[in-house]
Amino acid sequence: MTLNALYVDFNSYFASVEQQLRPELRGKPIGVLAVLAETTCCIAASNEAKAFGVKTGTMVRDARKLCKDIIFVEARPPLYVELHHKLIAIVESCTHVEKVLSIDEMVCKLTGSQKVTENALALATKIKRAVYKQYPYILCSIGIAPNTFLAKTASNMQKPNGCVVIEASDIPHKLYPLKLRSLNGIGRQMEERLQRYKIHTVEQLYALNRDQLRSAWGSIEGERYYDKLRGIEPYYVKNARSSLGHSHVLPPEQRNIAGAKAVLHRLLQKAAMRMRSYALLTTRMSVKVKFRDHPSFYGESGISATDNTLSLIQSLETLWQRYPQHLTEPVAVEVSFSGLSNTNEAAYDLFAEKPAETETKLNKAMDMLNLKYGKNTVYFAGAHQALKSAPMRIAFNHIPDVVVEDDE
Ligand SMILES: [Mg+2]
Repeated sequence: MTLNALYVDFNSYFASVEQQLRPELRGKPIGVLAVLAETTCCIAASNEAKAFGVKTGTMVRDARKLCKDIIFVEARPPLYVELHHKLIAIVESCTHVEKVLSIDEMVCKLTGSQKVTENALALATKIKRAVYKQYPYILCSIGIAPNTFLAKTASNMQKPNGCVVIEASDIPHKLYPLKLRSLNGIGRQMEERLQRYKIHTVEQLYALNRDQLRSAWGSIEGERYYDKLRGIEPYYVKNARSSLGHSHVLPPEQRNIAGAKAVLHRLLQKAAMRMRSYALLTTRMSVKVKFRDHPSFYGESGISATDNTLSLIQSLETLWQRYPQHLTEPVAVEVSFSGLSNTNEAAYDLFAEKPAETETKLNKAMDMLNLKYGKNTVYFAGAHQALKSAPMRIAFNHIPDVVVEDDE
């Protein structure tokens, strides 16, 4: 097993972009907020603010207590996206970018002589220099390892401006000092789950076999984690599956607006449950209604990566507002999710509210009940109020098209 992946993670990205663009902010502790309000939290903190203990998620009033001179600035997402594309181009000028994983993270596949440690390190230096030449206030940490997961882990081991190599021979002992939570894919809920399995350290995690990891995760993701921890690139269904959905021909008594909508709700909930069972998230939802003697109604909308039934219902409600009310006889309906990604690769949408843990638990509980007692045991009834406004959003795994988003 050799070195295969080089991971680039830009440090304090939003805050660094602000410092790059606004010289008066350089060298100062700054907190970036989605909106300037006392009741919100920082979505990014500059390195200077981090030194005071301010981080992503710190509430404004707490940040002020930690650092009385902190300067708060309002996020400017279109600029972050614009620079994101420029930074990809810079890295691409050094070596091919295999995959962009978020607005401030990308991975390059090491090929040929790049797999040799010293050459990989030279490539990392080349990337850092190229970025520095154009954007001296935007730093990155680089991780190099046998697979993407460990390269990302390595990129987190030295911040800011670090460069860490995890060689095959470093596995697993180099990982032992890390906290479970510092591994990608282990959030607070997973940490709690692992604690119930008496797993408190990375060393204990390495001691588990495939089956134990699968049951700890409660999904196939646990088996993938076994490979990931060992420097193997795991297999994903993503390429095999580009969309997921359900369609249904309406029975005569449901060939009306209310009937079509009710069936769509049910299909949506069924498809969402299936999506969760595959550990996938969707970023695009479409709805189709066929009529006896009219062209079909088709609605599609881009959404922040989600598997949450309630969020999907909100999107359905929004799409439904364009439903042609004058067409009286729908005969078939279809709902479909595309733009699928694996749950472990996604993070929450920074410009939306954090996914409520209660909603995640609710989805899980409903799935379990439906699996155990039949598909329609529990479901969300009726319609939910559609979102009143949709601010531009940047999920860490979703890079919106800046032009499209601006038009909204
Ligand atoms: Mg970063």
